[in-house]
Amino acid sequence: MSQILRLPAPACRHYVRGRCDYEEVLNPGYDPEYRCRVLVRLQQVYDTFLTQADAFDLDESKATGIWEKRFREVCSEDTGCQEYEPDDTNSYPGCALCLGDVCVFRLPECGGRCRNYTPKPRG
Ligand code: SF4
Ligand code: SF4
Repeated sequence: MSQILRLPAPACRHYVRGRCDYEEVLNPGYDPEYRCRVLVRLQQVYDTFLTQADAFDLDESKATGIWEKRFREVCSEDTGCQEYEPDDTNSYPGCALCLGDVCVFRLPECGGRCRNYTPKPRG
């Protein structure tokens, strides 16, 4: 059986380091598989904290202080992600593979130019 050889697609606006963000751009936030695992874990830590703050009936300023301390601790810990690539930003988790809350590594691979190919804007 013959195979169709697709043209390379780095000039596509959806192409990110060999991956494709087309589905994510179409339905932002829809697929949980694309999320950065470290940010998902941070969200879980935060949700747990909110539940505890409610249970202890903490006032807002006390809760904010405790959460800021907890967040600093989380930032100083290892991310636990094998693919983590440190970048030079101040945002958490400071990973070069983060696109907002999306992990580039978790996006589907681009197999070459497809019908959704869209040239990058000039400039
Ligand atoms: S590689 Fe980076 S963006 Fe992907 S899950 Fe790990 S920390 Fe998050
Ligand atoms: S060519 Fe198709 S698969 Fe490749 S990045 Fe563009 S839209 Fe995605």
